Amino acid sequence: MKKISIIGSTGSIGTQALEVIEKLQDKFEIIALAGGHNIELLKKQAEKFKPRYICHNNPSPAFQAPSPTRGEGYSILHGSEGLEKICSDKENDIILVACSGKIGLKPTLTAIRNGINIALANKETLVMAGDIVMAEAKKYGVKIIPVDSEHCAIHQCIKEINQVEKLIITASGGPFLHKTIGDMKNATVEQALAHPRWNMGKKITVDSATLMNKGLEIIEAHHLFGFDYDKIDVVVHPQSIVHSAIEYKDGSVIAQIGLPSMHIPIQYAISYPERFEGIKSKSFSFSEIAHLDFEKPDYEKFPTVKLAYKMGKLGGTATACLNAANEEAVFAFLDGKIKLYNIYEITKKMCDEHQVIQNPTIDEIFEVDNEIRKKTKEYILKNL
Ligand code: MG
Repeated sequence: MKKISIIGSTGSIGTQALEVIEKLQDKFEIIALAGGHNIELLKKQAEKFKPRYICHNNPSPAFQAPSPTRGEGYSILHGSEGLEKICSDKENDIILVACSGKIGLKPTLTAIRNGINIALANKETLVMAGDIVMAEAKKYGVKIIPVDSEHCAIHQCIKEINQVEKLIITASGGPFLHKTIGDMKNATVEQALAHPRWNMGKKITVDSATLMNKGLEIIEAHHLFGFDYDKIDVVVHPQSIVHSAIEYKDGSVIAQIGLPSMHIPIQYAISYPERFEGIKSKSFSFSEIAHLDFEKPDYEKFPTVKLAYKMGKLGGTATACLNAANEEAVFAFLDGKIKLYNIYEITKKMCDEHQVIQNPTIDEIFEVDNEIRKKTKEYILKNL
């Protein structure tokens, strides 16, 4: 039995991970489940999966008191202290970091420093602090196994990493792929959230609509696989069947393909290096897939990708700035305060004005994150 904890068990990836584990109950034992505010769902999950701890972040005083007793079969932890306790528990063989946002970074580092392998679904961890996280993983001999479908695909393709010439990341193109820039400028929240292929959390779905998600994934790939930005390409592939590919020095291309379901990369990441039948619902059929399309990304309509390349190449705190400004702008869009296209404009402004710190400490990264979030919110309040 592999012992696993899930940070973000009530979110999109977390709930799908539990669907995977439900099918593999003889393979996994759950140590802890951590969620955000949705205590009712967290408790339901705890009743079913019987973890030793649950951890929540509900600010209501009624839920604040830690419960050291095991009256309900599990202890109740709270907030970042609770996450630290979970990620320090060396009984874990692997921790699935499935939460969204910067909250994933500290627990991931704690788990790495305790020698616990990571199945990483939280992009921000690598976008904010990829250099530090990968160096610590190397130092402590910890594996970081990507859950993101594109990176999972590359992880499966790479056998001889020294022979790989470039990485090719596919992008579905999101709901505005074949719409005009005008359509995008006037898009409603509902239109931005209507992703044609993937059912995901709101923040990442908006990122997919602006293609910033692909920008963040380029940065993620740079850190995970150690490739220069010039060796990471993006191709638009609306059907999301080819999940990504690598090109070897001799021109051979190896791609990973499959139906668009997050269950598969989640299961691969937590089972690695083993493979199980698990949640597989049907066999892949080439003949049922009528055809596959590929096209170049339109960087005029989706300038976010170029901005991500630029900030990635700058390094240091540049990508933490990109992440913080984009995230605050996405929240403002979801709150109806700004238009979809403003997300790029605001993020670019914050990036242009940012004084990059090279080789930052983790505290400096969090300082930049806080400062950029504050500045972004103030800018939106004053100007939009
Ligand atoms: Mg992805």
